[in-house]
Amino acid sequence: MHLRPEESVAAAFRDKIAMQTAAQARYASLRDLPATARCGTTVALMMNAGLMADLPSLIGSGAEGVGLFRTELQFLIRNAVPKRGELAATYARVIEAAQGRPVVFRTLDIGSDKVLPFMKPEDEPNPAMGWRAIRVGLDRPGVLRMQLQALIRAAGGGPLTVMFPFIARAAEFEAARAMLLSEIDRTGARGEAVPDRLAVGAMLETPSLVYAPDGFFEAADFVSIGGNDLKQFFFAADRENERVRRRYDTLDPAYLGLIGRIVERCAAAGTPVSFCGEDAGRPLEAIALAALGIGTLSMRPASIGPVKAALRAVDLREAGAIIAAGCAAGVDSLRPALADWLRASAPDLPGETARAPAATD
Ligand code: PEP
Ligand code: MG
Repeated sequence: MHLRPEESVAAAFRDKIAMQTAAQARYASLRDLPATARCGTTVALMMNAGLMADLPSLIGSGAEGVGLFRTELQFLIRNAVPKRGELAATYARVIEAAQGRPVVFRTLDIGSDKVLPFMKPEDEPNPAMGWRAIRVGLDRPGVLRMQLQALIRAAGGGPLTVMFPFIARAAEFEAARAMLLSEIDRTGARGEAVPDRLAVGAMLETPSLVYAPDGFFEAADFVSIGGNDLKQFFFAADRENERVRRRYDTLDPAYLGLIGRIVERCAAAGTPVSFCGEDAGRPLEAIALAALGIGTLSMRPASIGPVKAALRAVDLREAGAIIAAGCAAGVDSLRPALADWLRASAPDLPGETARAPAATD
């Protein structure tokens, strides 16, 4: 039971309820099928999670793993900093519930909209652009170090995937990764088990990282686009502000151009790229992202069925051609052309599949 839950905790429970609605039954037959488009491209669909209550959805949704585990939720539901042993036990339960599927643990993203009940809120004029996420972790490394130790312990000699949030510069990623590697060395020196496979990735949530040196893209084991933040900083439109948050569309040619550039930079370095912002869970947006070359989409579990149904119904080369032609012609938005094409090429999909996001999305 959560009394007066913080908004992200309430959202996690809304997602859980969405998984249990009758509408999900429609997608049950797709659960064990791959998200392979008509052109033969297969997209990996993963789920976003953050609470133990999310985990039953992992099997039920057919997700291939957890593409984003928001670790701050475990801090938000407590009234004191959790102890390392408690965290290690929680992470071990998450790994166990995934039954061999990958789990991408994102280290703490506190600050901005996520204020811990036991931390003195910083009086910042612009918290979303303020002292948050990896910035806190690098400036005051105590809690991040403890969290990394808990993750290493939870992996118990198995694989471990860690992702650092809000990386704006290559040097931040290098410093965070060095901290993780030094904790692994210290754990090994004590004679304790260390991960047998390690993947260390960065969340790309600021436009600056798109233009990082090649060395960053080569050093990262993977890059995950946090579109919620990336879009707010690209358009300078606060994601929490109802007046502006829907003013700029994901299917704007300029934004899709930025995504295309990220895909190119990752491809040049041979680094896998995924997308874990809310747009990954919207069928039309998911098609556009896959057509641009994003190979993994991570979303709330209730979105996996609708996104998989849409991807399986289309040829991504056609979507790519529409995007390229629209960008070349200088259209205002790719949404009308993509939505018309989707309705015509996949008439059996539910009518809402091609719709624009609702005001509450
Ligand atoms: C994002 O910014 O897209 C993201 C997934 O992180 P969060 O929504 O937790 O900021
Ligand atoms: Mg973010």
